Amino acid sequence: MTFVEVRDLSKTYRSGEVVVEALKGVSFDIYEGEILSILGPSGCGKSTLLNCLSGIDEPTSGKVIIKGIDLHSLRDDEKTRFRALNMGFVFQFYNLIPVLRSVENVELAMLTIGSSQKKARKAAMDILAKVNLDGRATYLPSQLSGGERQRVSIARALVHRPAIVWADEPTGALDTKTSTELMNLIIELNKTFNQTFVIVTHDERVSNYSNRILHMDSGKILKIDENQNLKVSQ
Ligand code: ADP
Ligand code: ADP
Repeated sequence: MTFVEVRDLSKTYRSGEVVVEALKGVSFDIYEGEILSILGPSGCGKSTLLNCLSGIDEPTSGKVIIKGIDLHSLRDDEKTRFRALNMGFVFQFYNLIPVLRSVENVELAMLTIGSSQKKARKAAMDILAKVNLDGRATYLPSQLSGGERQRVSIARALVHRPAIVWADEPTGALDTKTSTELMNLIIELNKTFNQTFVIVTHDERVSNYSNRILHMDSGKILKIDENQNLKVSQ
């Protein structure tokens, strides 16, 4: 079932004389519960696309319709609330708050949407267990490995049970073995909770771990491939 409708999305950056058409009229659907990779060379517009889909950035024209709601027609405060309730975010460099312990970083996503401290703490501990980090709940980000930091940030992205998770180069700062483990974890979480994952990457190996691969170049979609043999390695 279609979950997100992307219609004729364009984004033009202008600074003085310089005009960059980062997205040139992109249309496609994102299906409920799928893992979709957005793959393409550096500078082709992947991050711009993800940022317009997730409401981090405003497109120049076009629509992003999520659960029947036109994201960019919402007022700023409505958009902030819609994003906090329905979306989770994973970044290349984790974006964890350095002075907060793992569990505090994770529960913040619950507190933001008005959950009680008690409920937030329980949910944070539960999801940390799901990413095999319950033993690291009291550690600060600086006391964790890169792979562990990314697992905390995945826990933070999932703790409030958003319908969709956006990930921008989630394995970009990890070695091959840790990247493989992370993608296996994402597949497992996707199966367990049926969240939709949209993952931007320039790494073909990462895109092997998704149901569909959207190939981009120069601000356009080249093609969208179905991945028949979803890769899960040991
Ligand atoms: P990718 O994520 O595929 O590397 P980006 O979406 O970051 O690509 O960038 C697409 C194009 O838009 C590039 O030419 C980039 O230089 C340009 N661009 C991205 N962000 C900005 C910005 N804030 N201002 C001006 N140009 C930008
Ligand atoms: P409960 O209702 O007792 O929390 P669930 O079966 O709904 O039991 O969830 C079991 C565990 O999985 C809990 O730790 C819960 O926080 C977590 N969980 C369930 N659904 C999701 C989801 N969509 N996203 C993230 N975590 C979830």
